[in-house]
Amino acid sequence: MTDPHGPPLSRLSYDRAAVRRSDDAWLAEAWQRAKVVLISPGSATPVDEQHRVELRDAAAVSDGPRRFLGVVDDVPIFTVTAEPDGENWRTLRQVGPMLDDLEASLVVSAIGLEQWHQRHGRCPRCGAVTEERQAGWTRECVEDGSMHFPRTDPAVIMIVHDGDDRALLGRGHQWGPGRFSTLAGFVEPGESAEAAVAREVFEETAVRIRDIRYVASQPWPFPASLMLGFSALLDGDPAITLDGVEMAEAGWFTRAEVRQARDWTDEAETPETGSRLRGIPPRFSISRYLIDRWKTTSSPDR
Ligand SMILES: [Zn+2]
Repeated sequence: MTDPHGPPLSRLSYDRAAVRRSDDAWLAEAWQRAKVVLISPGSATPVDEQHRVELRDAAAVSDGPRRFLGVVDDVPIFTVTAEPDGENWRTLRQVGPMLDDLEASLVVSAIGLEQWHQRHGRCPRCGAVTEERQAGWTRECVEDGSMHFPRTDPAVIMIVHDGDDRALLGRGHQWGPGRFSTLAGFVEPGESAEAAVAREVFEETAVRIRDIRYVASQPWPFPASLMLGFSALLDGDPAITLDGVEMAEAGWFTRAEVRQARDWTDEAETPETGSRLRGIPPRFSISRYLIDRWKTTSSPDR
């Protein structure tokens, strides 16, 4: 069990039973009594009317790549890639806020594996075909025998504040009017996470920061990010200069402004609120977790 108060997609780690991945006899027996998380190539999964993830009996699942996720209450859980067979399939963005911690863990793992397999059908060494091994947790090159493992790419995401009542938020070019989020970016080769936080904030806004502190992490399987969440304190001049590439605009916003902002949804534009800041990310995102954590405290450490 991880932190029950952490970011929503990070609260539960089920038993992955990794030792079973190479036990073909056990896997064959386990399949007979397994429950299955179906994932489409586009990362949708079937849900019921209460937005609970449908775990189907293995016997009712047609053939597809079969990957072993782990064991929950003595029940083996697999994920299988399948095309949607009804109107009730939803993406993680659509149902993420409604999933319980176990459902979120299983679906995020299943999507992460599916995304990796889709992108790694060829050997990065020689270009030959690779095949699944280890119940979906390895791919092996048919020519040179090299083994390849699922990728997790570290990214940093940070709430930058001024130690008083304002936090730095930015708006990406594609997000629509009034929608702001915390700044974020990928960790580069040879770089620490803390250095990446400082570099990304400076590159995007020309703002200097200090007191960079790790807060929490959350997987984001589109396609393979592990978001490392930080807080940081403004160091010096708050003036913003945009790099003109990543951010359409950025600004310092007060807690009162953040409190009146609405949740983003993919379905509708964020309505006018009378403020430049109209929307912030939905509650299952780590960006929102960092914003809410800052919003609810007056401690300068946040
Ligand atoms: Zn190869």
